[in-house]
Amino acid sequence: SKRARLDQFLAGKLQVPRKSVRFMLLAGRVSVDNMIIKDMDLQLDEFSQVCVDGAALQNNQPCYLMLNKPVGVVSATKDDIHKTALELLHGIKLEMLHIAGRLDLNSSGLLLITNDARWSEALMSPDNKVSKKYLVTLANPIDETYISAFAGGMYFAFEGITTQAAGFEILSEYQARVSLKEGKYHQIKRMFGRFRNPVIGLHREAIGELVLDETLAPGEFRHLTPAEIALF
Ligand code: URA
Repeated sequence: SKRARLDQFLAGKLQVPRKSVRFMLLAGRVSVDNMIIKDMDLQLDEFSQVCVDGAALQNNQPCYLMLNKPVGVVSATKDDIHKTALELLHGIKLEMLHIAGRLDLNSSGLLLITNDARWSEALMSPDNKVSKKYLVTLANPIDETYISAFAGGMYFAFEGITTQAAGFEILSEYQARVSLKEGKYHQIKRMFGRFRNPVIGLHREAIGELVLDETLAPGEFRHLTPAEIALF
């Protein structure tokens, strides 16, 4: 249910010929966003509320959620083995929900879930260079040499790319805050792999200016506020 013309949408949804749809429109039986519409050419967007005889044909309110993803939950809609992030969203029943920026199975923290593809594309587009902040816990001590290595970029032969400058803040002997403006496969783990330093904890704290709500326990979620939605 992306953008479509009203008569096409109704014909598909109700499985009737377009001619019947035109009669329904002329009879004033169809409303879009609470207004009776007789114009078959009306363009719908993905969140238009279409009703026939007062009954909604779909429930696609725009929805923006933040989840504090627990370790062991997979960033996917379906999985045969592990619990998925979408299964944690009790009471949310919407079409087209998707994850805007996945986290690895054993990573935790801020996960954004929405049905608004334009919004998620804006925040994930590499062109927009939205920075993602991670709290990283290491198996071995870290030191200042990591800062320039992360800032200077690392060549990943598998993809044939060099990572963009990454922020590196030492928080303690075994903890750092890393910020990335991209998200290659297992990127942070692979960057610490260059130092043979295994990542034992990886927690996303923020995506751009949008910060994980501290009051959410692992596995809990909430709707974003209008101000948070407006960040992207
Ligand atoms: N880097 C990783 O290695 N894993 C994540 O989940 C995110 C960034």
